[in-house]
Amino acid sequence: MSYPDDFPIPHVIQPVKVVRHVVKETPIKTPFLEFCPKCQSTIMTSINSHIGVCWWLICFFGTFLFCWPILFCLCCDASKDIDHNCPNCGLLLATSNRAGF
Ligand SMILES: [Zn+2]
Repeated sequence: MSYPDDFPIPHVIQPVKVVRHVVKETPIKTPFLEFCPKCQSTIMTSINSHIGVCWWLICFFGTFLFCWPILFCLCCDASKDIDHNCPNCGLLLATSNRAGF
């Protein structure tokens, strides 16, 4: 069966599934079980530490107000913020800020 060339092709509008995703604030510093809305599965989060507000506060006060040895704590991950990502798709699921903001 063939249609004539000027036959209008019907367009079927597919419903778009909108997934609302909100990044949570969590005090947990280690990987934990979380549901990934993108993968639609429960996964163990992977953590990535990065420089955050707490790191810059220690850097500023350690440099100008206290002595230089306090800057050695900047070398460890304890002063950095932590992102909890999905190991499959990399979606940011939760954050843990050391400074609390
Ligand atoms: Zn995922």
